[in-house]
Amino acid sequence: MRRTGVAREGLLLGSGGWIPTERRETTCVFIRSGDQGLVLDAGTGLRRLVSSSGLLTGVRKLAIVLTHFHLDHVCGLSYVPALPVTPTIWAPGLWLYGQRSEELLAPLRSAPISSSEPSDLGGVRELQPGAQSIGGFQIHAREQRAHWAPTAGLRVGDELALITDTAYDPESVVFARDVTHLLHEAWSCSANPVAESGDATAAQAGQVAEEAGAHHLTLMHINPLLRSEEELLADARAFAPRAQLGHDCASLRLDRVPLRSSGARRSNNQLFAREEV
Ligand SMILES: [Zn+2]
Repeated sequence: MRRTGVAREGLLLGSGGWIPTERRETTCVFIRSGDQGLVLDAGTGLRRLVSSSGLLTGVRKLAIVLTHFHLDHVCGLSYVPALPVTPTIWAPGLWLYGQRSEELLAPLRSAPISSSEPSDLGGVRELQPGAQSIGGFQIHAREQRAHWAPTAGLRVGDELALITDTAYDPESVVFARDVTHLLHEAWSCSANPVAESGDATAAQAGQVAEEAGAHHLTLMHINPLLRSEEELLADARAFAPRAQLGHDCASLRLDRVPLRSSGARRSNNQLFAREEV
């Protein structure tokens, strides 16, 4: 019996939020398992699937899952015609906005904004709440209401969770319970919080990771106006001592080493069952 759809390689393609900078493209995470690829959010970081040749070599099936429709998470959809494989796009339109995702994305995917035809930009499907299989990956999606627009928290099996564009939410702890690698938004420092009603601080990211028992924590969706990355990291490490600052093109560890020293915790496989064939 062979497992499929289990994330084996993770790469942070865009670690920033809002505005790309010299060092950070906006939100994009790439996960690969054999010939199947999964992209979480299509910020400007998606361009790295074009400019870093080889990342999609051998990938025959590609899915892009969106957390929400803000431009820093969807503008990379216009780069799709440059990819060697046409993806299917999954978005939370009907679920979180009561409108089909294809309709919500239509202005971005048609004239006069787009020079490409919608047919060249990949089909659009509806992301559902809860557990679902997407492109062979087991995805769990959770509604996050504490942002300027509703967003989806995403979890890929037990390997990785992406919690971004949300203020601190205690329910995130349940969602990320015992996940191998948590990618959490860290928009500002708790000593000088910015937009805290819609975006989490680094301390709050560390708190979620620590309480969830995540094995690794990477801070991402970094504010381009941030003054001190060292301060941001220290803020998170007050709760999660092994937190890391996200960098573009960084590999995401998917080995299980608890942040806490209390030893291995029980896996959550029953909640987030992987597909097996
Ligand atoms: Zn954002």
